[in-house]
Amino acid sequence: MSNGKDPTALEVMKRLENFLTRSSGLPFCAECLAHEAGIGVDRARRALVELRQTLGRLRAERRWCARCLRWEEVFSVETA
Ligand SMILES: [Zn+2]
Repeated sequence: MSNGKDPTALEVMKRLENFLTRSSGLPFCAECLAHEAGIGVDRARRALVELRQTLGRLRAERRWCARCLRWEEVFSVETA
């Protein structure tokens, strides 16, 4: 399922950060974030590990995902 462009790791992190910031306060699992960013879930997980080191407001916890409603490890950005 290639769309012809392979986003760089930095681009992936930016997409995830943008989406989480837009959806501020809402938690999403790695699978839903991968879908939003148009990437595979493995890449999303790796990017989220990186993002947690650079984006202090990024929280990870076990909760319901706001989108697929599964109990999962979810990621959210706290409201400023
Ligand atoms: Zn989800």
